[in-house]
Amino acid sequence: MDTTAPGPGVASCPQCGTPAPLPIHYGYPEPEHIRAALRGEIALGGVVHHPDPPQFECRDDDCGYTFTP
Ligand SMILES: [Zn+2]
Repeated sequence: MDTTAPGPGVASCPQCGTPAPLPIHYGYPEPEHIRAALRGEIALGGVVHHPDPPQFECRDDDCGYTFTP
């Protein structure tokens, strides 16, 4: 049950144009989140205390841009 998953609509990284940025999961990762991250479906943001952390991360390792659409 993950009600915080961002909705669709982000087609590419605004920084470099790499398609399909990864939605970032925040908080302590459950096994399902780790599996999804290993499959390249999400990024793990860890536990943050920022009030408005970025929701997506570029899947290009050289870019790594994080943003909120
Ligand atoms: Zn990028």
